[in-house]
Amino acid sequence: MADTIFSKIIRGEIPCHKVYEDAHVFAFLDIGPLSRGHTLVIPKEAAATLDQLSDESSSALGRVLPRLCRAVMKASGADAYNVLQNNGALAHQAVFHVHFHIIPKFEGQPESGLGIRWLAGKLDAAEGKQLAAQIAAAIG
Ligand code: 5GP
Repeated sequence: MADTIFSKIIRGEIPCHKVYEDAHVFAFLDIGPLSRGHTLVIPKEAAATLDQLSDESSSALGRVLPRLCRAVMKASGADAYNVLQNNGALAHQAVFHVHFHIIPKFEGQPESGLGIRWLAGKLDAAEGKQLAAQIAAAIG
């Protein structure tokens, strides 16, 4: 996979405000924060999207993500937070190296943090049954 800016950050070729590093995971402050404490958590493996990530990197990420959420909440004094993970340009991914955003939310600051447009539909029971079976069958 082609190098992204995040691979350069992991290698120390581009500066960042690092908050965590282990054998598989790296975390640093987002350069364009949506709120105070906005942090990016990335695997060292250079996979473009989450579905392409190895089990080893996935488990390392999953293991540390809650711990990093707790640290961001504690250090920023946030009241709540979103974890966001975009895959593909259509889904607003700009850097094609897997990353989880931890985005704090603060009481009384509705303009800060993640804004979500959530146009909920209604799941049809028959279609849901078929779709769930298809997804279950597709799990590798
Ligand atoms: P995406 O839209 O791909 O989910 O988000 C990419 C994120 O990476 C953005 O929030 C953007 O601000 C952040 N970002 C892009 N380039 C850099 C950089 O060079 N340094 C840091 N710290 N963050 C970056």
